[in-house]
This record gives sequence, C-alpha cells and structure tokens, in this order.
Amino acid sequence: MPHSLQIGGFTPLTTIDFPGELAAVVFCQGCPWRCRYCHNSHLIPVCGVKSLAWEEILQFLERRRGLLDAVVFSGGEPTLQKGLQQSLQQVRALGFKTGLHTAGPWPERLAALLPYLDWVGMDLKATVRDYPRITGVPRSGERAWQSAQRLLDAGMACEFRVTVHPMLLNEQQLDDLKQQALLAGIENLQVQPCITNGCLNSH
Ligand code: SF4
Repeated sequence: MPHSLQIGGFTPLTTIDFPGELAAVVFCQGCPWRCRYCHNSHLIPVCGVKSLAWEEILQFLERRRGLLDAVVFSGGEPTLQKGLQQSLQQVRALGFKTGLHTAGPWPERLAALLPYLDWVGMDLKATVRDYPRITGVPRSGERAWQSAQRLLDAGMACEFRVTVHPMLLNEQQLDDLKQQALLAGIENLQVQPCITNGCLNSH
C-alpha cells in the first residue's frame, strides 16, 4: 500500500529554494529535532493543524508542466516520510527536477533517496559536539555529519548552509564548524544569519 505524504504547506513558485531553477516547494510535516531557532515550528509535530493532499499538489503540477523547472521537498524534515521516494518518482515522471532540504537526521534514508534527487540543500548546524545544544537531541551531530558525508561520497549536487543564532553559535564555534567542514571536503558552506523574531525559542 503506498504511503501518502503528510504536507503542512505549499509554495507554488519560488526562485530561491533550488539554485537557478523556478521551483514549487512542498513543506513536509514532522521533524525529529527541536532546534531553538526553528522558523517552521508548526511543522515539527508529525500531525499538523493544516494538511494538504498530495494528490491535489500533483494535479497542480500537471498544470504547471513547462512553466516550472523543479519541485523541492522541504519541512519539517522530509526524510521522515515513508512516501517521499514515491513522491519524488512521481514528480520526475511529470518532467520536473527534484530537490530536497534536509537536516540529515537519517543518513541511510538520505542515501537511499539520492538516486531520485537532482539537488540537496543541507543544514549543517554545528560541530558534532555542539549539535545537541541546538537540536535538543543527543547524537544528532553524528547523524547530520554522516548524512553530509553520504552526499559528498555520492558526488551529489548540493549546498551546505549554517544558520547562525547569536546565542547558539558564537564566533569560535562557527570557526570550529568551518574547520570541520573544510576537513570533510566542504568548501561552499553558506553562512546565513538567524532571524530570531518568530522562531521556536527566540533566546
Ligand atoms: S531540523 Fe529544521 S525543521 Fe527540524 S526543528 Fe530544526 S530547524 Fe526546525
């Protein structure tokens, strides 16, 4: 029996979520982590308040063939969802490229999805040691860095980015992260400031 996606939001057109492509973004419901700077905290529970049907989004995409380049699965954490692989296949069958935004909590799941993806944007939040302070979850750092390694080993087209919350990542910790990223072979770490207004825990 196919698994359907739990969807908490949908953006029909964006130019910033898949580099160089016109994309729609599907916001998947649910995340195993609790980052204090999370801006999509309504997407953290596995069951959301607002729910959209995947079939409706597929119908929308049918009508956008030739007008959109790609569909990005964001969240929440899309790799939480058992139906993601099938959804990626459906999107590709319609002629769109596929993108994923992930924090990398499940390296094996991510690796299994790579054949169905054209691009991945991955959050690297800190060094392995500093992760639990940000995500609230023990061993989250090991998992995220293993996921990053999977992307690198596969030669995947991807972008790594870090969100800097001033209370969660100081200058030294950011330098340590950049150093660990370089040692892992990541040369394009994008640093983005955190807008603390409206996040899960603003201090
Ligand atoms: S991993 Fe992303 S979606 Fe999950 S809590 Fe952290 S910032 Fe929010």
